[in-house]
Amino acid sequence: MTFFHCATCGAQFTPSDAPPDRCPICDDARQYVPPSGQAWRTLDDLRSAHRNEIRPEGAYDGVGTNPPFAIGERALLVPAGDRFVMWDCLPLVDDEVADEIERRGGLAAIAISHPHYYTGMADWAHRFDCPVFLHADDREWITRPDDAIELWEGETRDLGHGLTLIRCGGHFAGGTVLHDAERRALLSGDIVQVIPDREWVGFMYSYPNLIPLPEASVRAIVRALEPYAFDTIYGAWWGTLIGGDGKAIVERSAERYAGALRGELP
Ligand SMILES: [Zn+2]
Ligand SMILES: [Zn+2]
Repeated sequence: MTFFHCATCGAQFTPSDAPPDRCPICDDARQYVPPSGQAWRTLDDLRSAHRNEIRPEGAYDGVGTNPPFAIGERALLVPAGDRFVMWDCLPLVDDEVADEIERRGGLAAIAISHPHYYTGMADWAHRFDCPVFLHADDREWITRPDDAIELWEGETRDLGHGLTLIRCGGHFAGGTVLHDAERRALLSGDIVQVIPDREWVGFMYSYPNLIPLPEASVRAIVRALEPYAFDTIYGAWWGTLIGGDGKAIVERSAERYAGALRGELP
């Protein structure tokens, strides 16, 4: 039995003798099967070709895969008392980097914005004996069910230490962001997308395939964030940081988006 990862999105599947027939995440309109066809990598392939790296990312430490794999997932280690919440996840557990995280206190939990970051969550949860918080509305996209997964329902989930999971929806029904009250930071995955112009953010149903969201979904994201104060925004990939004024940027970006849908281009 082998763990197979989708080479395009990084999803890991329940172990099997042969690769799965398809990757449901890539068959979906929010991802894609490349023209060269569906491809797979075994966990051993990943271990031999990739390493993890840990390095500072704004106020946090980030963890990524080097050379990048799949969509280039990057996780953030968010202080939670003596340990960390790992925000979002990545395909491979590299012993060296995992040991380093352990030395710094280890993981209290893993929390993930949406299915494009589920990837190696079960292996990370087993390494640190911690739960994985996923929004229940996205349960159909779990490709490797595991006892460590805790599905949460409703609009918010308090993780303690000033950390709150907020369901924003949009890109996925259970699309979640993490609010860090102490650092006045919003960790947004690609639910609120940090774009090249750091004075603005973007909102989409499908990023690679450029399918927009209806105005009501974007308004719902702004409404969900309304009670929370934040200055900085951390997006889904290395270096996608907004350094300040984050709340106003989200609000005016929603207005710009709604205007564009009405034909009022900037
Ligand atoms: Zn895939
Ligand atoms: Zn995504």
